[in-house]
Formats: sequence, C-alpha cells, structure tokens
Amino acid sequence: MSEIPYKIYLEESEMPKAWYNLRADMKNKPAPLLNPGTHQPMTAAELGVVFCDELVKQELNDTDPYIEIPQEIRDFYKMYRPSPLVRAYCLEKKLNTPAKIYYKFEGNNTSGSHKLNSAIAQAYYAKKQGLKGVTTETGAGQWGTALSMACAYFELDCKVFMVKVSYEQKPFRREVMRTYGASVTPSPSMETEIGKKILAEHPGTTGSLGCAISEAVEVAVGTEGYRYVLGSVLNQVLLHQSVIGLEAKAALDKYGVKPDMIIGCAGGGSNLGGLIAPFMGEKLRGEADYRIIAVEPASCPSFTRGTFAYDFCDTGMVCPLAKMYTLGSGFIPAPNHAGGLRYHGMSSTLSQLYHDGYMEAVSVPQTAVFEAAEQFARTEGILPAPESSHAIKVAIDEAKKCAETGEEKTILFGLTGTGYFDMVAYEKFHDGKMDDYIPTDEELAQYAATLPKMD
Ligand SMILES: *Cc1c(COP(=O)(O)O)cnc(C)c1O
Repeated sequence: MSEIPYKIYLEESEMPKAWYNLRADMKNKPAPLLNPGTHQPMTAAELGVVFCDELVKQELNDTDPYIEIPQEIRDFYKMYRPSPLVRAYCLEKKLNTPAKIYYKFEGNNTSGSHKLNSAIAQAYYAKKQGLKGVTTETGAGQWGTALSMACAYFELDCKVFMVKVSYEQKPFRREVMRTYGASVTPSPSMETEIGKKILAEHPGTTGSLGCAISEAVEVAVGTEGYRYVLGSVLNQVLLHQSVIGLEAKAALDKYGVKPDMIIGCAGGGSNLGGLIAPFMGEKLRGEADYRIIAVEPASCPSFTRGTFAYDFCDTGMVCPLAKMYTLGSGFIPAPNHAGGLRYHGMSSTLSQLYHDGYMEAVSVPQTAVFEAAEQFARTEGILPAPESSHAIKVAIDEAKKCAETGEEKTILFGLTGTGYFDMVAYEKFHDGKMDDYIPTDEELAQYAATLPKMD
C-alpha cells in the first residue's frame, strides 16, 4: 500500500472547473431565509440590498448541482491550489494504528486557512457588479485576512469589523489585513448605531461575531456602492468551499481510496460543508455511504446542545432569520475560548442534513484539543490552527479506536489552517492556564428562551 505518496497532488488539468451545489441533491431542502419583519421568505430583491447580485442567485439556487467557476477565479486558485492531500504516515506510525489517515491541508496560503476559497469568489462578483467595496466582520481574523487579500487582488475597498477581543489579542492579524489595504475597526464600535447601542447596554464587552455582523451590515446598507460579504454559514460560502471536497475526492479516486469517515471542525459549517460536499452528494443519491462527523467546541456547542429553529444570524437582529441549530443570537462564548468556532448558529444546509440523520456531531473540550494540536505538530510538522485541531482530536481518537479493535478504517479529515497567530492560546495551554469552561444547561436555556417566536 505504500505506493500512495505522502502528498497526493492534482495536475492543473484535474482541478475542478465547477463548484458542486449539495442542495440540488437534498430531498429536504434547507429552509429559506426569512425576512425578520414579515417572516416571509427573503426575495432576491431584498437580499440584493445587502449582498452582491450574483451571490444572491447562488444563495437561492437549490436546483443546479454544478455551477461553473469563472476563469478569473480558477486562475487565482492556481496560485495556491490544489491544496495538498496528505497521507499522515508519521501520525499513523506514532499512534501505532492500522487506520489510514488522510488530511486535506488548506493552510498553505498567506491567509492561512480555507477562507480564501470563498473570499476570492465573493470579491470577484463584487467587482463584476461594479461595486466600490465590501464590508465584513471577522472573529479570529482569518476571514478578514482572506477577504483583504482578495479585495487587494481585485482593487476593492475592504472594511473589516473585528471582534474586539481578537483585535486586542491578535495585533499581527490586524496588521496583515492592513498590509493588504483593509481598514480594521474593533467591534462593537462607536461608528454604527448598533455598536453604540450594544456598548451602552454592555459596557466593556469583548464583542461577538453576531455583533460585528450587525455593524458590518449597517455600514454596507448605508454606504453607496458597498455590499456586505460573509465568510461562513451561508449557502454560497459552502458552494465555493466545495472546491476542497472536489479536489480531495479527485485525489483519492486516483488511488482508488474510499474514506470510511470524514471529519471536520464546524464553526459556521463552511469548511465541513465544502469537504464533505461530493461525498455527501453520493450519500444523498444512494451511491455510497460515509460516516460524517462534525466537531465543535464544548464551549459553543450549536449542533450537540442547540435548538433546530429559526433564529437571527446577528446580535442586532437586522439580518434575515435562518433555520439552523442555534444557541440563540445573544450567546457569547466565554472570553477564554481560543480561536474561532464561536458562532452561535450553524449553516442551514448542514443543520438540515444533521437533522435528517446524514451526519453526526461531537463536542470536545479546549485542553484536549490543544493536546491533539501539539501531538500533531510534533509528528506531522504542521502547526495547526486551534479550530482545525478539533478535527485532529477526533481523527486521533478514531485512529486509536482502530488500534484497539484492529480495524483498518480510512479516515479523511480537514486541516483548515495554521496556528501561527494563535500563539497566545498555545501559551496559555503550555502554562497550564487554559480552562475548559462549558456552559451549563441553565445558561443555554436562558439564551434559547430568546429565540424569535414563529407562527
Ligand atoms: C473560520 C475557520 C474555521 C471555521 O469556520 P467554518 O465556516 O466552520 O469552516 C475553521 N478553521 C479555520 C482555520 C478557520 O479559519
């Protein structure tokens, strides 16, 4: 079996020419976005006030299985794609497991994560529409970095609202964004009405993604020639991220390898939705079966302890309502929670698939995640992002189970990025100062009680 190389690359000619739209093959489609005022499905015209026109079409398209990747985007992808699909021989050996472990590594671009795959697509459509610029939010900073790179490439203005705790803890992320020409504002800020309101109600708050989203939307809607773009959760983002799964599947197919299980971390669901897309497509069409596992932090457990219901996507309650697994839009994870994966909701596509039993979810505590991260760094060499390390943790656990049972399972997991900007979190871990705060049932019930009443 050792004829499988450590890294499987694709030729340029083998790279995907179309994204795969998972929703086309779903019998139960994800529920539509609703207007927060009327509770009626959002129309293309309503969505077009906030989002770029072509992206609205993609958002609403649940019938076309393939959507062509424009040549300009494919040309940009060629600069850093295909991303390597790695056979983790060193990790397998270290774990002394008969399991075969593969990971798709999305961290080999300057932004350090998979987010660039969608950022470049969104910037392209904004440019094509003749816009001046875009606004967005960023939590841990990866999305803001990816978007600033994409906007620099297409010469668009880029305004980023960065969750305050990250703005302060990750000054170098901020400077990368400014290097690519973006303006970065800590959120909540005094630049927006919603920011002022949140600051008045919660002075000293360290911010949340939901709050930064509200600010970015307010500025996009109120500024001529601007639209808002989002780096996760939305259908369009999952669509762009399908390039991850399409490449991974093409690479594995070259060697006749079929994964038994596919594991990914889940924040808003974009990398996982992208990685599993073509595999889930086969599962939905009844052509193949795979175990698919979403891994989330125990401190922000949308799938495993959330409610499947319509909820606001943002704290300010200005965005459309989405039906998803949610903890409630007011949920703010404990400030010691490291890295990303702190969004209160989840992609409505993945939520529907989870609800219908097509995938599983597990939650893992923070220190166990960093233990796995360190073990991975020491064996495979790559220093992983804390988010990615959630998937590593469960992949290692599954490989250890194989070591006990002797089963030769094939595991594929998504290694979404590198952790060079997360060294404050690594430092806490090394100094034994990291704790595993897990919200109580009472706390979660309080937030769940604020879900909008639907009739
Ligand atoms: C943003 C991010 C995630 C989580 O976002 P998803 O939309 O759930 O994929 C995971 N890993 C890294 C490195 C990220 O930057």
